[in-house]
Amino acid sequence: TQNLDLLRSSLKLCPNFPKKGITFIDVFGAFANPKAHRALIDLILSRLKKLGTTIDAVVGLEARGFIFGPQIALELQVPFVPVRKLGKLPGKVAKIDYDLEYGKDTMEIQTQVLKPGTKILLVDDLLATGGTLGAAQKLCVDLGCEVVETLVIIELLGLNGRAKLTDVNHFTTLLQFS
Ligand code: IMP
Repeated sequence: TQNLDLLRSSLKLCPNFPKKGITFIDVFGAFANPKAHRALIDLILSRLKKLGTTIDAVVGLEARGFIFGPQIALELQVPFVPVRKLGKLPGKVAKIDYDLEYGKDTMEIQTQVLKPGTKILLVDDLLATGGTLGAAQKLCVDLGCEVVETLVIIELLGLNGRAKLTDVNHFTTLLQFS
């Protein structure tokens, strides 16, 4: 819990950003402080160890999933695979359309290392409405992979983002905010 307290206190709550009425949680606060950064990585690794799940690859979402996802992949000695917005990833990609609060978007994943049956740890910084992670889960499953765990640093309660996830039994969140 010392690590969790350190992590929580490193996150900056930004009222009225990016729009009036929205309080944005700035996850970069955790990376601005090496002790909080260490706490974050150690917390994730200890959760994963406790779960004992076999993981073949870490899939991370643009943009903050790219910061700590590769660090976790390195510790686990497995590949890191990026998911980005349409048109940004070269090579063989798979894509999925998904709904945003206003409108639609498309995300893509590089498929080279993702053979059917690959056991994936999916990571992003934050679960809000769940639209982003829900779509990413579906994208992985459509490739024949198994999303064995989905992990976020922060879950915003109240938006019921979990309802958009395909498998809430394999969902890990370090901190919850109401
Ligand atoms: P969702 O699809 O509504 O669950 O939104 C999740 C995505 O929006 C994640 O990729 C987050 O990085 C981003 N996001 C939404 N709200 C916040 C916030 O308060 N802080 C940081 N990122 C946020």
